Amino acid sequence: MGRFAERLSVKVVGSTLERDASVAVALIAVQLVAAFALTWALGGTAHVPPHWFYFPILFAALRFGVIGGVTTALMAAMLAGPLVPADVVSRTPQPLSDWSVRSAFFVAIGVALPTMMRLGTSTIQETRRRSRSEDDIQRGLDRNEFVLHYQPIVSLRSGRIVGAEALLRWQHPTRGLLTPDAFIDDVERLGSVAGWVIAEAATAAARLRRDRDLHQFTVSVNVSAQNLAQPDFVAQIRTALRAAQLAPQHLCIELTETTLVDDLESIGARLQVLRSLGTRVSIDDFGTGHSTLSYVRQLPIDVIKIDQSFVRDLGPEGRSVAIVDSVAGLARDLDAVCVAEGVETEDQREALLGRGIQFGQGYLFARPGPIGELEQMLARLDTADR
Ligand code: C2E
Ligand code: CA
Ligand code: CA
Repeated sequence: MGRFAERLSVKVVGSTLERDASVAVALIAVQLVAAFALTWALGGTAHVPPHWFYFPILFAALRFGVIGGVTTALMAAMLAGPLVPADVVSRTPQPLSDWSVRSAFFVAIGVALPTMMRLGTSTIQETRRRSRSEDDIQRGLDRNEFVLHYQPIVSLRSGRIVGAEALLRWQHPTRGLLTPDAFIDDVERLGSVAGWVIAEAATAAARLRRDRDLHQFTVSVNVSAQNLAQPDFVAQIRTALRAAQLAPQHLCIELTETTLVDDLESIGARLQVLRSLGTRVSIDDFGTGHSTLSYVRQLPIDVIKIDQSFVRDLGPEGRSVAIVDSVAGLARDLDAVCVAEGVETEDQREALLGRGIQFGQGYLFARPGPIGELEQMLARLDTADR
């Protein structure tokens, strides 16, 4: 379409909307006058409850939202109040209380209707968005668009890679490479990727360990509260480990601390089952939840991951030193390993080492990337060793 035609079409649409609005305003005015005339003709508000005024208020609220609803409600209140003296026939004045209660009622309708409409349609919109997104995810799953990226976990002292965290990515055909915050909630509602993530990560870890003769290497996967609650979750892990031929101690299940707020007994029992399988259990984002130390002490935990917000704040004037110290102390008490997340600078690495933290991951060492990047990094370190 040419530019002129485009402009013309916008103008036509614009003027149609404008015309519609003036027609609506005229209709509201006519309805108000009609309601006033009817109430007057029938003897005033003392004889007829002025229900006629609801029509213009409802129409204005639907057409123009709260502003239209309230404006029309106030006009209706004036017309059904001071301008219609209570009893036209007997000419008795209208009590002020009657008028003010009626006005409040009109205004309440003018506000409530558009508000309820908005809430109703936003629920419908959210339901539509979810269903579109779930269809999109299902299509992505069918076309193998989901991939795992790996971020190495290293010894802070030597730089040696001791493991990697598998992080979910979606190679979306139109939106590009997406990180989990863009889709994980919808994926979790479908409940369909945890089994795949574990199987994929276990297979990659088993291959890396075989090819590169890595004795220590452990792969970590993120697991949500919903995943943990699935009745067949443990069976999925067992199947994945068997299929990949990975020894269970080389798989670490990461749970965010906020997952732990639920019922301690059932979480503890599930973690215990995972542990009895031989897999390791890690508490992710430690320090961001509200769990108390005594609470965490009762859980079977192998790894505590210090949240990146504390690592960021570790500089000489940082306020996180005491927190990092207490997490390190807790890890020692529990016989657990501490991993610092989000290590971005050499200063942070040194500060963490100074506080007795041995392991870390972060952009200082590597960003999460495809398995090939992890392999290249392992190969580079191998060569450096020789
Ligand atoms: P997380 O488990 O805390 O993962 C660490 C996040 O920090 C990752 O974000 C990683 O890319 C990012 N990161 C790593 N190093 C640095 C650094 O030095 N600086 C900064 N600023 N960030 C760093 P990502 O990949 O976007 O993942 C976000 C979250 O999504 C993860 O947080 C995890 O909770 C969740 N997630 C990832 N994969 C899965 C999955 O397979 N299943 C489930 N349920 N959740 C997943
Ligand atoms: Ca994690
Ligand atoms: Ca984390």
